[in-house]
Amino acid sequence: MKNKKVVLMGHFGAGKTSLIRRFVEDAFESDYKVTIGVHISKKVVVTAPEQDDVNLIIWDIEGKEDLRDNRSSYLLGTHAFIYVQDLSRLHIQREHDMDDAREFFQAEYPTALTAFVGNKLDLFLEEHGGRTSALDVYDHVVSAKSGEGVNHMFQSLAENLLNHGE
Ligand code: GDP
Repeated sequence: MKNKKVVLMGHFGAGKTSLIRRFVEDAFESDYKVTIGVHISKKVVVTAPEQDDVNLIIWDIEGKEDLRDNRSSYLLGTHAFIYVQDLSRLHIQREHDMDDAREFFQAEYPTALTAFVGNKLDLFLEEHGGRTSALDVYDHVVSAKSGEGVNHMFQSLAENLLNHGE
């Protein structure tokens, strides 16, 4: 069994807590609870029979608008980051935020894996009537509410982490 630390990052309200809840407990709540400090969950991901299982240690940290304001002590030893954006709020800053995040992870945590994830796919599909090319920039598009894509996202991250060494 390999332990891997995964940290979810992204704007306030993007759905980080909800994604973790969907993955770990297969549940969803629509009332809004702000994460204060840090909350850590664990879930074992079973990979191929000849490979180690992966114990994902998933950190939900209090949202900060600026990535650089996140307390770096929380981020030490992170194997993978999941950067979450809200697909229902396609504001003008979105691509800039993603480039900024890419730069931040590359500069500060060059050995960590990063996954760029669009959440609230259910709302996006409702609004746009289907998938559009706006989704192409993401590694995964998911919905914590419906559950679509959530297991697949964590599963492929776990598999990538195994292949990634350490
Ligand atoms: P965080 O601040 O990034 O941890 O965001 P939360 O997980 O607290 O979610 C913020 C709000 O968005 C909450 O009211 C959630 O119920 C809602 N939410 C999260 N994920 C989804 C989703 O996939 N679809 C919909 N419709 N709402 C979501």
